[in-house]
Amino acid sequence: MSESTESAACAAGEFDLIVIGGGSGGLAGAFRAAEHGARVALLEPSALGGTCVNVGCVPKKAMWLAAEVGRMIGMAETLGFQGAPGRLDWPTFIAHRERYIHNIHQSYRRRLDAAGIVHMPSRARLLARAAAGGGTVECDNGLRLQAPRILIATGGHALRPDIPGAPLGAVSDDFFHWTAAPQRVAIVGGGYIAVELAGVLQQLGSHVEMLVRGERLLHGFDASIAGQLAEDYCQAGVRLHLDCPVAALERTGEGRLRVRDAAGGEHGPYDQVLFATGRAPNTAGLGLDAVGVDIDDGGHIRVDAGHATSAPGIHAVGDVTAGIALTPVAIAAARRLMSHLFGGAADPSLDQTDVPTVVFSHPPLGTVGLTEVQARERHGDAAVHVYRTGFRPMLEALVDGPQRSLFKLVCVGEERRVVGLHLLGEAADEILQGFAVALKKGITLQDLHDTVAIHPTSAEEIVLLR
Ligand code: FAD
Ligand code: NDP
Repeated sequence: MSESTESAACAAGEFDLIVIGGGSGGLAGAFRAAEHGARVALLEPSALGGTCVNVGCVPKKAMWLAAEVGRMIGMAETLGFQGAPGRLDWPTFIAHRERYIHNIHQSYRRRLDAAGIVHMPSRARLLARAAAGGGTVECDNGLRLQAPRILIATGGHALRPDIPGAPLGAVSDDFFHWTAAPQRVAIVGGGYIAVELAGVLQQLGSHVEMLVRGERLLHGFDASIAGQLAEDYCQAGVRLHLDCPVAALERTGEGRLRVRDAAGGEHGPYDQVLFATGRAPNTAGLGLDAVGVDIDDGGHIRVDAGHATSAPGIHAVGDVTAGIALTPVAIAAARRLMSHLFGGAADPSLDQTDVPTVVFSHPPLGTVGLTEVQARERHGDAAVHVYRTGFRPMLEALVDGPQRSLFKLVCVGEERRVVGLHLLGEAADEILQGFAVALKKGITLQDLHDTVAIHPTSAEEIVLLR
């Protein structure tokens, strides 16, 4: 038993809050509760930081940056820089990536100690509910803790489709263990992870094919923006197979992988097949039944707007619920809830409308608010006004490259209130945040026109749209 576990054993029964899961939501909740003076125990059996820090946003963004550097190096020779462009040595880059992540772990440990939060390196199982709220949680070693408040933030895991041979394929967690770009790779899926990893791998030298069961990439995103991204990917060499549900995966005699689709077509052979076919909540073995926490048909913990579950004193945030599965949403939800429970804030709920999000594709795609289709459904065709611009960003034009940007603004009503902004292009990931604030504040097209442009940038195109 570690020192911290022993002190927790001594303190068992004296916590105000037990947090289950030390990822984005759990850590944010633990820190915020401790700031308000709560005595907090945090149970996390794996690396601190959860999906985002260890097998999600952070290592993914690092790989995306490596791919962007590779893209620039590819352009350098055309622009007159001397010397042949090199390929990425993955082990060297991975050492930098992992050092960065190690520093995040260290920082969390320091902050937990400073806040007096007891970190137990253990899985948690809910054992019993207390009449007054919260209940008892059991650790792997049998230690039992009690608190009147429990926060469940156990996140989710990658799903493989239910087809023969599925275990032969990799998922995103496996991708972060790869030490070289596979020569030929199939990515199954057309959502966030599929699009992001396809872009990274193509840019880092793999031959990438995407097997997408639907008729387009990125369902739910603006159709013309997703269409332009598909074109940019095809120009970059990605082969897109749309309307292509996969039916089986098998190993060839040479140890490579072949995919059979539902129409009987064969694809491959590939060196790797990566499933990016969605994620499911981590609720198995949590003991939800024992305490009366309800789940929905998708296995997510049911919560109300204030993140309360069906069991008094037991709350849930992040990917284990059916809300928007993004790190900043888990963090914001946990902080608001803890400020309510321990800091006296009146409202525990988080407004989940107009949440900005970026797909780290090449080029990146940023979106906030309503798509054109959603705006027409909600406000009627006559009220919707759409402004768009397609252009080649300067660097792309300098190398005479094919990649095009597309920016689209969706406005409603006489006053042209901005209800949606969809950006595909260089720096869209960094441009979006400020405009998301403006959209949330209810700006109009005239407000954009009243703002003087910054020249020469891609961002200026937004205030010049008409
Ligand atoms: P997690 O961060 O998953 O944390 C859950 C923790 O609970 C884990 O550490 C787990 O070990 C622990 N746990 C599970 N069961 C138990 C148990 N019984 N007892 C104790 N602990 C337990 N979001 C973005 O906003 N931007 C991005 O760029 C982005 N990129 C992503 C890339 C990938 C490849 C993936 C997979 C996800 C990405 N996401 C991104 C989504 C983001 O990672 C998640 O939305 C976020 O991590 C959810 O936080 P969470 O706290 O709900 O869960
Ligand atoms: P998504 O829901 O984004 O995409 C899943 C994809 O898999 C869809 O194209 C879906 O098709 C397809 N699919 C599902 N089941 C099957 C199947 N059986 N066979 C073939 N295709 C299938 O999930 P991801 O796993 O990409 O990402 C999970 C979540 O993590 C995201 O929704 C997002 O919230 C978060 N995330 C955020 C990132 C960011 O902020 N940059 C990056 C990565 C993840 P269909 O559309 O037809 O259902």
